[in-house]
Amino acid sequence: RVTAIQPSEGRVRLEDGELLAYDVLSLAIGASVTAPRVSGGTLAIPLKPIDHTVRLVPELERLVRERGTPAIVVAGAGAAGVETALNIRARLRLAHCAGGRVTVVGGFARLLPERSASAGRLAAQVLAEQSVATKLDVEVGRVDRGRVRLSDGRGLPADLIVWATGAEAPALLGESGLATDRDGFALVDDTLRSVSHPNVFVSGDAAGLRHHPALPKAGVFSVREGPVLWRNLAVSLGAPGKLRPYRPQHRFLALLNTGDGRGILSYGAVAIRGRWVLRLKDRIDRRFMRRFGRLKALGSPSPQDRD
Ligand SMILES: Cc1cc2nc3c(=O)[nH]c(=O)nc-3n(C[C@H](O)[C@H](O)[C@H](O)COP(=O)(O)OP(=O)(O)OC[C@H]3O[C@@H](n4cnc5c(N)ncnc54)[C@H](O)[C@@H]3O)c2cc1C
Repeated sequence: RVTAIQPSEGRVRLEDGELLAYDVLSLAIGASVTAPRVSGGTLAIPLKPIDHTVRLVPELERLVRERGTPAIVVAGAGAAGVETALNIRARLRLAHCAGGRVTVVGGFARLLPERSASAGRLAAQVLAEQSVATKLDVEVGRVDRGRVRLSDGRGLPADLIVWATGAEAPALLGESGLATDRDGFALVDDTLRSVSHPNVFVSGDAAGLRHHPALPKAGVFSVREGPVLWRNLAVSLGAPGKLRPYRPQHRFLALLNTGDGRGILSYGAVAIRGRWVLRLKDRIDRRFMRRFGRLKALGSPSPQDRD
């Protein structure tokens, strides 16, 4: 892993101490979640960066084996929190564990605050159907001796707490000397280039776009930035042509897997639930993953291939 970014020296430091010099640096280290300190008996899993999620299923299975009917708290009631809670419920069902308790805690007065009110209502209906409890307008405070303390003074038992709270900037960015936005993400221009260090490109959740400060931290944007990033890295390394701007779309489709063979589609004010929504999500995701297989087979594409 990279433990320090030193843009003034044009190098990064790796965890084994090696210093790696670069001509051009592409940073896509995602966002993080600052999970408050947890002590005594509760396991904590943050969902960002995304690779932490692979721990969820084995840990759930272990908890069911060891504790029978575990209590699980998901902190964060946005799309990731709701989707994760519903799929934890589905996993517990698969493990024949009907009694496990799953609770979503959200700091806003409604679910899915980043989506339409109708999507929030639909999510509330599905959570209730699937016996997932909700505690809204409260925040998770201390987690101690197997209990989560909420900001309103109430407490909840928790064998596992999953942090699905908002994306925060990785500390590495702030420590690096790269210009950052007010939330600490690396500030980039329309070409995804750092506004302070022109040979550093930052994309995905780690980037704060100067002209789109309210852009949500969602994979759809990271994916669409990919071809622009590829082209601009190549141009920075001497390929012919000019740097290209990335222009994010105004709205994006959210497809949530509700863990019951169905999904919720949310687009603008529209919110729909159905089996076909999950089929659509699955098709889109599988098509995306197949492209990685093709890349491996072909070797690295040239910038022209990606246009
Ligand atoms: C449960 C869940 C569901 C989601 N569903 C959707 C969805 O349906 N649609 C959507 O658009 N978005 C969704 N998102 C958001 C989406 O996952 C992120 O926006 C997207 O993954 C961001 O991509 P990224 O490449 O910037 O960062 P990430 O995918 O988080 O990848 C960052 C990578 O950098 C690595 N890294 C971090 N620090 C270092 C370091 N110091 N050194 C080396 N490597 C490092 C990490 O290990 C990781 O592999 C979801 C998120 C969650 C948690």
